[in-house]
Amino acid sequence: MLAVRYDAPRSFAVLEVPDPEPGPGEVRVALSIAGCCGTDLHIHEGGFFTRYPLTPGHEIVGVIERLGAGVDSLAIGTKVAVDNTVLCGVCSACQRDQPLFCRNFHSLGVTDDGGFAGYVIARAEKCFVVDDLADEVAVMVEPLACAVHGMDVLDLRPGSDVVLFGAGPTGLLLAQLCLHGGAARVTVVAPTGFKLELARHFGVDQTLQVGRGELEAALPKLHRLAPEGFDVVIEATGAPAVLEHCPGLARDGGSILVYGMADAEDRVAFSPYEIFKRELTIKGSFAQTHCFDRSVAYLRSGRVRTEGIVTTRFPLGRFGDALEAMRHDPTCLKAAIVS
Ligand SMILES: [Zn+2]
Ligand SMILES: [Zn+2]
Repeated sequence: MLAVRYDAPRSFAVLEVPDPEPGPGEVRVALSIAGCCGTDLHIHEGGFFTRYPLTPGHEIVGVIERLGAGVDSLAIGTKVAVDNTVLCGVCSACQRDQPLFCRNFHSLGVTDDGGFAGYVIARAEKCFVVDDLADEVAVMVEPLACAVHGMDVLDLRPGSDVVLFGAGPTGLLLAQLCLHGGAARVTVVAPTGFKLELARHFGVDQTLQVGRGELEAALPKLHRLAPEGFDVVIEATGAPAVLEHCPGLARDGGSILVYGMADAEDRVAFSPYEIFKRELTIKGSFAQTHCFDRSVAYLRSGRVRTEGIVTTRFPLGRFGDALEAMRHDPTCLKAAIVS
């Protein structure tokens, strides 16, 4: 099969490798579509908790093509979205019902071979049937599952006034979950016009176009929009310069959700007095476990919409072009590798 193979950061090739065989309890999935996300750029640079050699790709949709020994829950020919997380079940975090902090956390496409290949090996119980979803809808199951976890963490109060920074795929999904999850108003702030248009198309109440590095100048507009501050401020860009302004935009007693992935070395200056005196809450949301079924339910019902999110498609052999599009193509919202 053809696969993207990294042997070190920034060093990859698309080459022929032997077809992998499913072991007991595993299935072989023939790739239909694999989403590229910002995490793949961090992985390219050697960030996150990447292990090499690696085939990346953690947003995986394909068709069951071979069953390992003992698998009777899935049929060959079924289209599935693969939950990329691999949890040990026996470490102290797993035993405390905090599997996201599993001491032996593995992830297809980050530590183990993922979806940018002709075939992926997955545990049968990690495959969610999506026969009824179009490929470009099904490919949103993993990002939406992460957003569902973000909502679990956020614990949104009904009637909240929410401002969200970032209109990438995850920002657009989170904004919709806030709309349907009890927010009285959702405002999305981002630099790119067509992404904000999509946010409005998905039902967001207010959008504000603010260029990268221009947030400081736009703060008065945001303060006018919510003179007492926003109940919830969601940072979904990963830019420390944005997070820095989040406490100042929150209402007294408000919450800040750190959803975007920054680099591990990044630092942000806060006033501890402000966090203390105004009783602000800062929450983090990283990946997901056990949210795939709810994500599929949202997509199946059509409550969460995805049309227009995948803008750019490449065959496996042009993985490098997909990375390039994510970095530099202003018309690219989400790139995907298609079979
Ligand atoms: Zn991702
Ligand atoms: Zn564990």
